Amino acid sequence: MLTMKDIIRDGHPTLRAKAEDVSLPLSDEDKNTLKEMRQFLINSQDDDIAKKYGLRSGVGLAAPQINVSKRMIAVYLPDDGNGKAYDYMLVNPKIMSHSVQRAYLPTGEGCLSVDENIPGLVHRHFRVTIKALDIDGNEVKLRLKGYPAIIFQHEIDHLNGVMFYDYIDQDNPLTPLPDSVEV
Ligand SMILES: [Zn+2]
Repeated sequence: MLTMKDIIRDGHPTLRAKAEDVSLPLSDEDKNTLKEMRQFLINSQDDDIAKKYGLRSGVGLAAPQINVSKRMIAVYLPDDGNGKAYDYMLVNPKIMSHSVQRAYLPTGEGCLSVDENIPGLVHRHFRVTIKALDIDGNEVKLRLKGYPAIIFQHEIDHLNGVMFYDYIDQDNPLTPLPDSVEV
């Protein structure tokens, strides 16, 4: 099982690299990596397991964060606040379209690859449409808004070497952009 020692931290060059497309059909190794990533998220949200293995809780993980520079992400969110669950292992995800309107989490964002808390608002698209492939190579199209949309954007950014704090306005870190929505 994956633990925190498998997660590379800020400063590691893989976190700033553009990850490679995954070739299809998925190799058993790639499938296994995705399953391990999803299982890490599940374990990290289980109080007993998380305590036993010292896992920080997370809702999303991108393959570069375990030093695999490939375009794969896992998202595991049992409840988005409206009773909807998100459980995805995606390959080669792409944002096809997005709203002009921005959204942010009032407490800012965190990342399993960033140990310290970095205060500041991270403005993202309020709505996104994502196309990707699942672990079996089937096409998946997701229309997301609000918190789930933020999670997927955070994870897809990892595939492009982008970190959440890159978006924080250094001069006005806690000032919402005009017309942006608090999520
Ligand atoms: Zn992250």
